[in-house]
Amino acid sequence: MNIYDESLKAAIRELARRYPRKSRSWIRRSLRRYLSNGVMRIGENTWLVKGDPKMSDSLPQYIVRFVNGKYTCDCQVSMWGESRKLCTHIGAVILSQIHEEMMKTVYVATITLNCKDNQLLILSKTNVEVHKKGTEKGTTYIIKTNNQALIKALVACNDEIKEIEIETKPSPYYKLHTS
Ligand SMILES: [Zn+2]
Repeated sequence: MNIYDESLKAAIRELARRYPRKSRSWIRRSLRRYLSNGVMRIGENTWLVKGDPKMSDSLPQYIVRFVNGKYTCDCQVSMWGESRKLCTHIGAVILSQIHEEMMKTVYVATITLNCKDNQLLILSKTNVEVHKKGTEKGTTYIIKTNNQALIKALVACNDEIKEIEIETKPSPYYKLHTS
């Protein structure tokens, strides 16, 4: 599988995770719209989504907007006003956003400390993000930077302390996200 497919898979999983109450058919329809190149960004918080008669769309296109933390779509405007439904036009837009994010390059390094009592202390002043994950024997630290970087750190394993250098390397974001 290539990066596009793998990151798309990760994006679909993330969409399902963010909207756990949405059905599989909502995800499938959102995906179908996205894959048919139906989503076009036309402003910072505005997208054009192609209408598809096969998916019972009555208009040739829909405008999706993100305003005050909420998505709205043309298809929701009826004579009773806006409904709060998250339609699949919106779903396609959200999926395109997540997919874009997943394909971004980040810089990461992974350090695993196989001891119960451990700690990692970053000494460099570089902007570093550290994620911790418990393993059976100890802890895995995922270190993320905005650019490729060489970072000095102190690691402690039980009573042993040493200084190490960690080099972050480019990786697509979805790899960090799925690990
Ligand atoms: Zn809609």
